[in-house]
Amino acid sequence: MSEFQDKKIPELPEPQQDKMPMLVLRGLVLFPQMVLHFDVGRDKSILALNQVMSGDRKIFLVAQKNIRDDDPRADALYKVGVVAQVKQIVKSQGGTWRVLVEGMYRAKLLEVVGETPYFEGVVVPFPLKNSRNLKSAMCDALMRTIKDLFEEYCYLTPRMPRELVVNALVSEDPIHLAEYIAGNMQMEVEDKQAILSQSDPLKRLELLANVLESENEILSLEADIQEKVKGQIDKNQREYYLREQLKAISGELGEDDPQEENQDYSEKIKKLKLEEETAQKLLKEVDKLSRLPSNSNEAGVIRGYLDTVLDLPWNKKTVDKIDLKKAKALLDKEHYGMVKVKERMLELLAVRKLAPEIKGQIICLVGPPGVGKTSIARSIAKSLGRKYVRLSLGGVRDESDIRGHRKTYIGSMPGRIINAVKLSGSSNPLMLLDEVDKLGSDYRGDPSAALLEVLDSEQNHAFRDHFIEVPFDLSDVLFIATANTLDTIPAPLLDRMEIIHLSSYTREEKFQIGRTYLLPKQMKRHGLTAAKVKVSDDAIYALLDNYTREAGVRNLERELASLLRKAAKRIVAGETKKVVITNDNIVEFLGPRKFKPEQIQSYDEVGLVNGLAWTTVGGEMLQVEAAVLDGNGKIELTGSLGDVMKESAHAAISYIRAHWDKYGLEHDFYKTRDVHIHVPEGAVPKDGPSAGVTICTALVSALSGVPVHRDVAMTGEITLRGRVLPIGGLKEKSMAAYRAGIKTVVIPAENEPDLAEIDPVVREHIDFITADKIDSVLNIALAGKLRQSVGQLTLDDIAVESSEKATQTNTSIPQ
Ligand code: ADP
Repeated sequence: MSEFQDKKIPELPEPQQDKMPMLVLRGLVLFPQMVLHFDVGRDKSILALNQVMSGDRKIFLVAQKNIRDDDPRADALYKVGVVAQVKQIVKSQGGTWRVLVEGMYRAKLLEVVGETPYFEGVVVPFPLKNSRNLKSAMCDALMRTIKDLFEEYCYLTPRMPRELVVNALVSEDPIHLAEYIAGNMQMEVEDKQAILSQSDPLKRLELLANVLESENEILSLEADIQEKVKGQIDKNQREYYLREQLKAISGELGEDDPQEENQDYSEKIKKLKLEEETAQKLLKEVDKLSRLPSNSNEAGVIRGYLDTVLDLPWNKKTVDKIDLKKAKALLDKEHYGMVKVKERMLELLAVRKLAPEIKGQIICLVGPPGVGKTSIARSIAKSLGRKYVRLSLGGVRDESDIRGHRKTYIGSMPGRIINAVKLSGSSNPLMLLDEVDKLGSDYRGDPSAALLEVLDSEQNHAFRDHFIEVPFDLSDVLFIATANTLDTIPAPLLDRMEIIHLSSYTREEKFQIGRTYLLPKQMKRHGLTAAKVKVSDDAIYALLDNYTREAGVRNLERELASLLRKAAKRIVAGETKKVVITNDNIVEFLGPRKFKPEQIQSYDEVGLVNGLAWTTVGGEMLQVEAAVLDGNGKIELTGSLGDVMKESAHAAISYIRAHWDKYGLEHDFYKTRDVHIHVPEGAVPKDGPSAGVTICTALVSALSGVPVHRDVAMTGEITLRGRVLPIGGLKEKSMAAYRAGIKTVVIPAENEPDLAEIDPVVREHIDFITADKIDSVLNIALAGKLRQSVGQLTLDDIAVESSEKATQTNTSIPQ
């Protein structure tokens, strides 16, 4: 290497000064032994070239410091340049000359002796220091580094001629290597000049290494950036291309333009002015939709979702009109009676007027079917000017019924609450939660928990339906619930609600409602006028007594409608011009009477007692039969009795066994007799503790053979010690007793305060007697004296001794 190097170091001319013309290079630096092509346009340069061409063709080439300087002064030139030989000069177009020069040796400018007509300077050869370091390991290392860096540089610079790389790689001369690379690569003039000016070959190598290093870094960054940009462009182009294809395919299939569809969705979302989070979520779905093939299942699901969500009444509200007088008039116009409910509703309106922001309690109307719970709620919505929507909770067992199914399920839907809101078309409707007491729960989750969240004013401003996913504000919805009974309403729900009880209507009330509300309503609905059809009062009574048996008026309304339909048919058929319906001809319209009035027996019987029961359709008279038969102490209970009722029967038997002597019974009747207790209408399930006294009375009567007054009815729970405990539903029960023609009703002493609620008509006709012990009940009910003596008398004796009628058709005493 050193040999070669030694050989390669050019033989330097005598360091003698020379005066020669100068050519100022702009943006270029020439190195010795380098051939350079360039254009010359400046006058001074052309004149200098002309001058040398006529002589020895030697010219001093030196770079100017500022590339923008068109006419640099002598002091704006570098001091180190190269003396070159002009090889060729050709005139090209536009008054410029193309010059080919070959560098000869490095020279230093000592002095500029003339600036016009061209630069002329005194230059002196400026050889490199022939350092010993050129053979050092350091030099080798530097050269290797530079070769590596240059190789990388060439790799990063596209269109770099291959031979350049090869020449550089095979070069073993540090000076040549530095000049060769510096002369051939793109780099700043300052850097090139710095290398040229540097006299120490090793320092030159270091300089070059630095430049290469930073240049490579910049180039690789550039490459990265370009790669990214290209990737982006490729992706955009690909998407554009695919979308265009998709559009064409959709067009062929006659489908809507998916782009347009997405645009529509986005605009709709913007128009709704949703909360940021909600809008973002929906836009994301639109974006997802835009990436899916338009007829894919998933696109269908998303479309369904967006349609449903965007259809919801976001921010759509009705304005409450609260005018108490008008509201009262409207409620009165549409509903008879219902004083308590109406009053409470007016209070609610008043509070809303004073403090609209207070979200009041949820009202729950509890009462038997057909007493107007639903329809009064509708009237309230009307009087408030709110939309009304009803949501039936009967049979809802699944939480997702309330909250909806996640939209990933095929056929999933929002829950009932959101559906109801959507149906109402406003975000503050009056929502009737019908039949909360029928809410069930099973393994699929507890719907009452979801309902709790709906009703909780702390949480319902951001109700989350599984399907809708985004929160919906329910806090302005006015909820009213209805139920038939409180027993089955989950306790936490019950806690949230204010209960208003609606009781059954009396016969008189039903008559009034039928005549003044339902009849005109149905007449109108059937297109009939008073001139065409007349329904007489006794016909309405007949409907009440013979065609319906209910607490409310739903069936009455149905029967009235049926009556009017039949009448309309007769008129349209031309059979008659006017139809008058009375009690006498009602059978022609409605067929045979379905119910005979509950009638009491025509005589007192042994072992047959009138009980009073409460059912969801009102009160009913329930007769309890007891029979005593020869046997060995079996106890038979029939008539679909529930557990509670069976237990009452056992309690009654135990009580009687304990007091056999008091009632003059055989002391071992429980060993020698079978007892059978039956409650008629055996197919209808019955339960409850309030038949206790009735069963006990029937048993005592059957065992003692003393008949029971046929016009006495009773209700009350019994204890093992013969105490009579209070019961519920007295109002309904007493009404049933009144209907049946009962004269005396025995009630538990503790129920005395409830008498205030009994309908005046009922109170007028019935004698209520309170009892705290079963003895008092027996005293009133039994038509005959019990034997106080024990053992001697057989049951047959007692039967004979008691009322004559008892022996006529006695079912309870074995004959
Ligand atoms: P519920 O919801 O309690 O089962 P509805 O509200 O469905 O009962 O009432 C049944 C029918 O009886 C409706 O047509 C209703 O208008 C009518 N109705 C009930 N109570 C009254 C009343 N007090 N005055 C007028 N109509 C009534």
